[in-house]
Amino acid sequence: MKRQKTILLADAESFYASVEMAQNPSLRGKPVAVCGDPALRHGIVLAASREAKAYGIKAGQPAWECRRLCPGIIFVRPHMNSYLEYSLEMTRIFEQFTDRVVPYSIDEQFLDLSGCERLWGEPREVARRIIRQVWDKLGIRCRIGLGENPLQAKMACDRFAKKRADAFFELNSASYAAHVWPLPIGDLFGVGTRMERHLHRIAVRTIGQLARLPREIPTRLWGVNGLLLWLNAHGIDYSTLGPGAPAPQKGVGHCATLPRDYADPQEIETVLLELTEAVCFRARALGKMGTTVHVYCRGADFDHPSGFSRQKKLPEPASSAPEIYPTARQLFRRYWDGRPVRAAGISLSGLIDRRCYQLSLFNRREITDALSDAMDGIRERFGPTALFRAASLTAGGQLFTRAGLIGGHER
Ligand SMILES: [Mg+2]
Repeated sequence: MKRQKTILLADAESFYASVEMAQNPSLRGKPVAVCGDPALRHGIVLAASREAKAYGIKAGQPAWECRRLCPGIIFVRPHMNSYLEYSLEMTRIFEQFTDRVVPYSIDEQFLDLSGCERLWGEPREVARRIIRQVWDKLGIRCRIGLGENPLQAKMACDRFAKKRADAFFELNSASYAAHVWPLPIGDLFGVGTRMERHLHRIAVRTIGQLARLPREIPTRLWGVNGLLLWLNAHGIDYSTLGPGAPAPQKGVGHCATLPRDYADPQEIETVLLELTEAVCFRARALGKMGTTVHVYCRGADFDHPSGFSRQKKLPEPASSAPEIYPTARQLFRRYWDGRPVRAAGISLSGLIDRRCYQLSLFNRREITDALSDAMDGIRERFGPTALFRAASLTAGGQLFTRAGLIGGHER
């Protein structure tokens, strides 16, 4: 029997909108939407304040629709750099309680508090203190899920803490089934719209119905992914967090919600190239190379989901964009159905140590490695836009938006 763990997942409410309000208190209490470019008919909302959500506004909607739902909506341009700073500030607060803080996304972070009870007392007390500190110091509301593993903490946060006045909820192995099993299957972590449809087809509508199937059924139908979902339905998660954990990093990925729908393949390919650069930068920072690249594109219409999610093994392990991008582009050209794209992502998996690789007769790795390292050094010193591909200056480029430099003037 493995020792019980104490894992928190802290999530910031309406993160981008909350940061804008924290930096500009005159926005407080008002319906605010962070939006790519509201002047364009197709500007897309990236985040909505609590007050805006009350009007039915949510991330992913086009600006014109927001204006229809709430004529008094205040649009704010995104400032990625501020969001990163606030995210790091949150990490600093969490690190007062444990050295095992693992960012999950820009506004969600896991904290491993195992063995800290003597030091800090009850985990739910720690959660309350964290919620209070993040509010007092940063003016950001955060919600916290507590569990015996990352999955339980994530489910506790997403499905319960977000709906509760005290912004906190605890799940454990004993209480998991009672709380989680009645929920619709689409609420289970790991179930996307496509998998939801597959599950509906075998008459699984609640999480409990999946949990009660023999595990062989989802495993036979969907392989290891089916087995993982079955384990999720039981609240079982074998992953670990924090330093010393055996390779918690399964892959590195970046995705972007675009400020408008992209229909021009050239523009989409530019974004894929930028994302590939960002992913490679992170892989190299970890001292890793990837063996498989994964490309994801999601369509604009939520009611009729389109897009694709495909992966392909690279000709050889790689950590630089010139080596990886051709495979990514190949996947895009093969699987894109030509419909407008609203979000895109690239990830690199099968990570191996960058120093051990098969020697190749055809690829002078020392040269690409030296070039990549030099580029990393420049970007680390002078910022992410110190060096960039010319394609980022074309219409589809998102690099400057992502770096918070829209128009080259803003913060
Ligand atoms: Mg959030």
